Amino acid sequence: MGEKMGRRILEYVEIGQNSEGARVYKCVCCGYVLGPSGKSFKDYAVVRERSYSDYVEMGVLSMNSDRFIIREFYCPKCAIRFDVESVVKGEPYLDIKVSGD
Ligand SMILES: [Zn+2]
Repeated sequence: MGEKMGRRILEYVEIGQNSEGARVYKCVCCGYVLGPSGKSFKDYAVVRERSYSDYVEMGVLSMNSDRFIIREFYCPKCAIRFDVESVVKGEPYLDIKVSGD
């Protein structure tokens, strides 16, 4: 398995290099450089928090919860949705582990 230009970590997020050769997150959809890969890409994304009841209304979830919320992560440029997570209110972002080196 050779590593090519970018390494996909999600459908629309990849790790590539900027012009200085530093590793950065990029939006696969529009090519926008989110930021250095040292921390979670979620720190660079646009975050929208939604309640479970929103998702119940949309028919995505069948159970309501006051304890959990939904976080949606979007590209700041093209607004494609990168990821969705369900977390206990007030918890930090769930991290996607990207191996070092
Ligand atoms: Zn984008």
